[in-house]
Amino acid sequence: MIALVLVGASGRMGRAIEDAARASGDFTIKSRFGRDDPIPVAADAASWAGPGEVVVEFSSPAGAVAAARACAAFGAGLVSGTTGLSVEDEEELERAATRVPVLRAANFSLGVLALRRALGAALDVLPSGWDVEIVERHHRGKLDSPSGTALQLARDVGERRGIPEPALRHGRVGRAGPRPESEIGMHALRGGNWVGDHTVLMAGPGEWLELRHVAQDRGAFAHGVLSATRFVVTAAPGLYNLEDVV
Ligand code: NAD
Repeated sequence: MIALVLVGASGRMGRAIEDAARASGDFTIKSRFGRDDPIPVAADAASWAGPGEVVVEFSSPAGAVAAARACAAFGAGLVSGTTGLSVEDEEELERAATRVPVLRAANFSLGVLALRRALGAALDVLPSGWDVEIVERHHRGKLDSPSGTALQLARDVGERRGIPEPALRHGRVGRAGPRPESEIGMHALRGGNWVGDHTVLMAGPGEWLELRHVAQDRGAFAHGVLSATRFVVTAAPGLYNLEDVV
């Protein structure tokens, strides 16, 4: 049995992960933290995880940073899924990863991992002049835009084309002018209870191609999170992603 500490436990993802963990039978929930439960800083905190245990964090940038610091202090592994982290926040997680295993992913769905690989295969074939636009849809409660997954997809396109930080065009308004070849259009739609929907459109002369992934419920992420947790519990200190699990 793997003992889990859930940070963001009463949120949408926290509840989906707890449901999946209970159904799988090889996890116990040691404790739960939310916005109003301070994450421990003292080494005698019985409610926090230690070596051989894993903290699963889907909360907020502040929650991710506090969880990373506490994992590094107490020797627990960390699986982190919060999106919208600043560069400084990401550096905090990288610092923790020098002491404990930390697995970060902007999207824990295996379908999205397959989408990223399919995108890479398509870009290997298509000339660099093909225009790329990314459209993402999420529920009305999502705080960060565009989604971490949409930004990851844009970075994937940039890496494939030898542009580490591709220029993003967030929507278009007014006389936006002709489209520069190198920009990536980014369009974030918000409404209702869309769980997560990402489309990459590639348009060339006389033809276009569309790759799309739709998460229908949060179980799509929760199963990837549990696989990541099984990986982290025995991993050496370091920064990992979902590719390492698959
Ligand atoms: P939510 O608002 O439903 O839940 C967030 C929970 O975190 C709340 O219960 C809140 O009380 C708690 N929280 C906030 N700040 C905290 C802190 N400092 N310490 C402890 N707990 C804190 O949000 P959600 O839909 O569950 O999403 C949470 C995060 O996960 C978002 O950043 C979202 O974009 C991301 N997400 C990632 C994936 C993925 O696969 N990586 C999938 C879905 C959502």
